[in-house]
Amino acid sequence: MVTHGHADHARPDHDKVLATPETLAIMRARYGERAGRDMQALDYGTALDIDGVNLRLVPAGHVLGSAQAVLEWGGSRIVVSGDYKRRPDPTCPPFEVVPCDVFITEATFGLPVFRHPPDGDEIAKLLASLETYPDRAQLVGVYGLGKAQRVIALLRQAGYDRPLYLHGALEALCRLYRELGVELGELRPAKGVDKAELEGEIVLAPPSALNDRWSRRLPEPVTAMASGWMRVRARAKQRGCELPLIVSDHADWDELTRTLDEVGAPEVWVTHGNEEALDHYARGKDYRARALA
Ligand SMILES: [Zn+2]
Ligand SMILES: [Zn+2]
Repeated sequence: MVTHGHADHARPDHDKVLATPETLAIMRARYGERAGRDMQALDYGTALDIDGVNLRLVPAGHVLGSAQAVLEWGGSRIVVSGDYKRRPDPTCPPFEVVPCDVFITEATFGLPVFRHPPDGDEIAKLLASLETYPDRAQLVGVYGLGKAQRVIALLRQAGYDRPLYLHGALEALCRLYRELGVELGELRPAKGVDKAELEGEIVLAPPSALNDRWSRRLPEPVTAMASGWMRVRARAKQRGCELPLIVSDHADWDELTRTLDEVGAPEVWVTHGNEEALDHYARGKDYRARALA
């Protein structure tokens, strides 16, 4: 069972894969023939019996197709959250709270220092920079699955309706999101466009392209990066990032702790990030907690 399409969760070459139809489509787009031999789609909310264990998938609000696995057996219920966030995302359905006996949570931003600002504020920073520098391009570093499409959708939500320019590495997944019904407005390849034409435009590229030769085709780019890690100044600096945008697809500290309280699981397993602090929080609340190595 694969919770979502990110490469640290969805690996190629499995014999059998069970996931939402969207996650299977993302895996096929990324891995082609190697996506998996036997691919079984399971829609959100549809129950499946596997050797007496009842399984259903519910939205995790992380990226398109992302799911939590709800497992029930003998009157008890375990929820495996995968990666998740709690704030609204125009590109995927919201996280569903499922009360349970055991909750397995991620902890990417599991430290009280991580409190993500409202997405709208970060998008407004980008639009303000665009206005301040009409002769420069805004080059925004985004991960290809989820972040790219979310930043685009947030720009559209903010009323930005000009074409957005894409690095070639982002095109396939943006196309797939659209085929799966996510509105992204007009997107154009950045390749082959005159330098002068990109003045005052927004260009999206994978983080690896921000400072390499590729970016020289752009007119004096303002280098931005959209990531939850932009909260850490050293990380932004390391990327040579002038305009850090804190936009995350992972729950921040407040979202993580609120989720533990809402699912109300007496037992919490913490994995995937800063396990210790969240583990400590859970124990303080009298949950039985343990960090999964
Ligand atoms: Zn993920
Ligand atoms: Zn992950």
